[in-house]
Amino acid sequence: MHELGITQGIIDRAREVAVANSARKVTDLYLTMTPAADFTFDSIEMYFEMLTDEDELFKGAHLHLAWAPVSATCLKCSDQFSTEAPQPRCPQCGSAAVRLDPTAPMVQLTDVGIDDKG
Ligand SMILES: [Zn+2]
Repeated sequence: MHELGITQGIIDRAREVAVANSARKVTDLYLTMTPAADFTFDSIEMYFEMLTDEDELFKGAHLHLAWAPVSATCLKCSDQFSTEAPQPRCPQCGSAAVRLDPTAPMVQLTDVGIDDKG
């Protein structure tokens, strides 16, 4: 259920950007997700639609997704590598005992498209 809070956070950030730029509308939200995310982009989209349903500022806004790699450490051979897979295998020894960087952001709002005309 924490996707709801995460989505709300994204909306709050986008709203701040829009207000700071005297925007009439938010047209696009650019998100970057990493394999550290324990939810799908679909769930973010679903909550986004739910949370902005009655919100004129976000009406018709599009979500864009990009993936970013996350750093990982093999628990077997201590190899450190970068991965875009949610359940990666160590490239050195092939072990699936891999820990993703716990400080990696799960999803970030990287850019906001606004319409300030009108
Ligand atoms: Zn390894």
